[in-house]
Amino acid sequence: MKDFRFIVLLGFSWVGLASAHLIEDADYQAMKKKSSAQTGAAPKTAEPFLKFPDAVLVDWDEKYLYVGSDGLPDHPLMIGITAWQQQVPLPQSYYGGNAWPIPLHPIPSTNGMSAKTNFFRGAIAVAANGIPIFNPIKNDGRTDTYLAGELDQYGGHCGRADDYHYHVAPWHLAERLGPSLPLAYALDGYPIYGLSEPDGGSVARLDSFQGHTNGLGEYHYHASKSYPYINGGFHGEVSVQGGGVEPQPNATPVRQATAPLPGAKITGFEMSADKKKYQLEYVQNGKKGSVSYEILSGGNVQFSFKNPDGTTSESNGKTGRTGGGGNRPPPPDGKQRGEGPPMEGNGQPRKPWIENHLTEMDGNRDGKLSQEEMMEEVSKTFTGYDADRNGKISQSEANGPGVRSAMAGFVKQHFAEVDKDANGAISLEELKTLAMKMWEKYSWGEGSGSSQRPPPQN
Ligand SMILES: [Zn+2]
Ligand SMILES: [Zn+2]
Repeated sequence: MKDFRFIVLLGFSWVGLASAHLIEDADYQAMKKKSSAQTGAAPKTAEPFLKFPDAVLVDWDEKYLYVGSDGLPDHPLMIGITAWQQQVPLPQSYYGGNAWPIPLHPIPSTNGMSAKTNFFRGAIAVAANGIPIFNPIKNDGRTDTYLAGELDQYGGHCGRADDYHYHVAPWHLAERLGPSLPLAYALDGYPIYGLSEPDGGSVARLDSFQGHTNGLGEYHYHASKSYPYINGGFHGEVSVQGGGVEPQPNATPVRQATAPLPGAKITGFEMSADKKKYQLEYVQNGKKGSVSYEILSGGNVQFSFKNPDGTTSESNGKTGRTGGGGNRPPPPDGKQRGEGPPMEGNGQPRKPWIENHLTEMDGNRDGKLSQEEMMEEVSKTFTGYDADRNGKISQSEANGPGVRSAMAGFVKQHFAEVDKDANGAISLEELKTLAMKMWEKYSWGEGSGSSQRPPPQN
């Protein structure tokens, strides 16, 4: 079979690929220069990171330690994943202005914030080898990534920007670090130790974020082998934006996010020493598939897919995001803020529309509305109304007999709101978009205390 190949453009350029730090872009160079110019002793927070000089670059000022890395650890990646989104590891430029900032002087917050109900977007900690650690609960707000088979044998996988990250504690670093150094730092500036106290003693009683204060009045967290695996929230102050800790670095996508591949298990992964060539192998229904990719000069990434059915896939490779450095994905919920889906005007407090109509739309009667059920409702409503089959619901079609469905009434009452581009007709896309917003809001759960509901991202 012939490989189908396509090329996508990276949004930044790569200079020099020989060192352990693959990306030696302007951010890297600037950070390296600043780092070497530091005269005083490195802050205590830098200690665990300094154990990985090949992988991590550190720099600091009065407020922060900055942890720089290319986002690719030196252990085998991806192997063992049984719930795969088809994302693959690519180096990132977490350097300079895009490095990981760790507060040097953490400030205890008055209430703290739980990671059970917050921080489903982005990282909540950084491992000593410079790899970010995300909330073990993924961005749907309920799936335990470890239990769901989404993680490799080192507790990591790749996000929508092909960015590798852990979702649990990096236990494999414990031997190199010893008990006296933390495995990671949480983004509030407190360290995360392993299964013993820094002096080797057994771990004393922990609070709900899996932390405690030692005899010297210093707070730290402990990682665990079951949920919450790492810090279960933030004891310290963090600033929250769009459902995640900010500021934090961004990964740069080179292609459209990919979809889950049901039943696939990743069996092999190889990366060349210069981190330019990669091959990932998997098995689906007993048949092998692979993704090979290579970073070419100029920063282009060339992907070749061999599918288990023997075909080669035809992705268009459209990135949707090209341009200079710093061209990052838009904040996930930036546009949605203050723009919640319209609700029925039945007085207040308004109950979300979906909850009012749940039983009508809950096809499998499990008491929940799945995304599929929501989309079925959209499709039923749309075809019901679109009498002349022109792909649009006109105002007169909406006022006509329509269709008996929960959403039909909604469309009729809120025609103008659904018709987002105000062209006098509702397209399937407009209805879907609105329905998805409502569904996301619903699926993120009311009363979670979070007003920010980013769409699934990692
Ligand atoms: Zn402790
Ligand atoms: Zn993830």
